[in-house]
Amino acid sequence: MELLYKSTRGGQSGVSASRAILQGLACDGGLFVPERIPALELSLGAFAQMSYQETAYEVMKLFFTDFTEEELKNCIKNAYDEKFDTDVIAPLSRVEGAYYLELFHGATIAFKDMALSILPHLMTAAAGKNQIKNEIVILTATSGDTGKAALAGFADVPGTRIIVFYPKDGVSPIQEKQMVTQKGDNTLVVGIRGNFDDAQSGVKAIFGDQELQEKLARAGFQFSSANSINIGRLVPQIVYYVHAYARLLENGELSEGEPINVVVPTGNFGNILAAYYAKQMGVPVAKLICASNENRVLYDFFRTGAYDRNRPFILTTSPSMDILISSNLERLLYQIAGSDAGKDVELMDALAAEGRYEITSQMKERLKDFRGYYATEEETARTIASVYEDTGYVMDTHTAVAACAYEKYTAETGDRTKTVIASTASPYKFTRSVMEAIDQDRCAGMTDLELVDELSALSGTGIPKAIQEIRTAPVRHKTVCGVSAMKETVLAFLGAEQE
Ligand SMILES: *Cc1c(COP(=O)(O)O)cnc(C)c1O
Repeated sequence: MELLYKSTRGGQSGVSASRAILQGLACDGGLFVPERIPALELSLGAFAQMSYQETAYEVMKLFFTDFTEEELKNCIKNAYDEKFDTDVIAPLSRVEGAYYLELFHGATIAFKDMALSILPHLMTAAAGKNQIKNEIVILTATSGDTGKAALAGFADVPGTRIIVFYPKDGVSPIQEKQMVTQKGDNTLVVGIRGNFDDAQSGVKAIFGDQELQEKLARAGFQFSSANSINIGRLVPQIVYYVHAYARLLENGELSEGEPINVVVPTGNFGNILAAYYAKQMGVPVAKLICASNENRVLYDFFRTGAYDRNRPFILTTSPSMDILISSNLERLLYQIAGSDAGKDVELMDALAAEGRYEITSQMKERLKDFRGYYATEEETARTIASVYEDTGYVMDTHTAVAACAYEKYTAETGDRTKTVIASTASPYKFTRSVMEAIDQDRCAGMTDLELVDELSALSGTGIPKAIQEIRTAPVRHKTVCGVSAMKETVLAFLGAEQE
């Protein structure tokens, strides 16, 4: 049965999966949601026998119904391959009674790889299905992580180009090195003289420039976006929750149907929403524990029913969660409002105008599977240190926020349900913060790359390829421009200056 998509704001409906992926955001500014959430067609026991790729197919085929079996299997094969440093793709590690679902074994050693490895393939297949002959041009502004994961995903994918703008002085040295050494003739990385907001506004202006789009269309190009609200990023994230449950079943850690809790370190609310979708598909998830850092806007929301972004933006050691507007929350709001687009528009308008909104008591009632917890900077560091001292396992700062939230949850509730903690980045991605948490003195006077060797020695783990590579890789991208020159830079890269 074909599954179609509609906008949370009511302005678009009956959209095929492939069109929703190509479009990204709905025309009315809403997010695409499926008309219903499909149930798994196989028993959890059957998934226990499957590889990650096989599970991916069984889950994605239920959402992407206008893709053929061959198209979808090709996308999966091209995504989850040797780019991952383990053939199980998303391994589970048992540490102190919890199961860490390691989502950082891909090309850029963070969980964004789980979806961004497959999105380019879904997009080119979608373009083919919709008779789109233009090359797809991905345009992204990044504060560091998403840009690199998108570059790695789109590099050398035929029929696509990718242009990433980052604030020249606003990313870490390792992040910058990761981006400017990016290979692939279809990639362009540009440093902006400005901050992240300047880069973001510049990209938005290009997306909104009708004249430019027409000019590019004549030259054979069209823009698309790889950001986390694309349904083509959300659905691949459901897969690992199904797979994790099945692995635990296979290993005899669970009996079929036994509930688990999941804890997810949250920023834009994509990862935890995927877990909620997995639950609705039939994975026995009891509680969804939403872990925040000091930007605890979601913690407050789950406690009070009021979402309020009017607060200082705090820079933390878990930067991928430094977010005050969690875009994917809109999909949850729409669902708990009983698919009421009018209500969704009302709340989103209030968010845009006043920076806050409050849900009804009936909506709040429907959130009872969620719990919010947060970790301070000090608690995050202490969690990294104590888990390391007790077990030898070294986790990154984002994962530590989740581990701390889990500890607070069990202390408060006494709930001993088996728990999967989403581990979203390799400790090597945030080496300095991790090493400082474990041994402040050891870090004094060391560069980030020297600390990488220290981390390897201390944890007894090999340095991931993603980090090894940047030590010797040549710089391929040297373009730096002012915000006002972003449009010309795009045109020049596409060879479309001339009319
Ligand atoms: C993006 C990211 C998150 C937050 O995930 P959301 O889906 O935006 O909630 C957490 N940890 C890391 C390392 C990330 O890169």
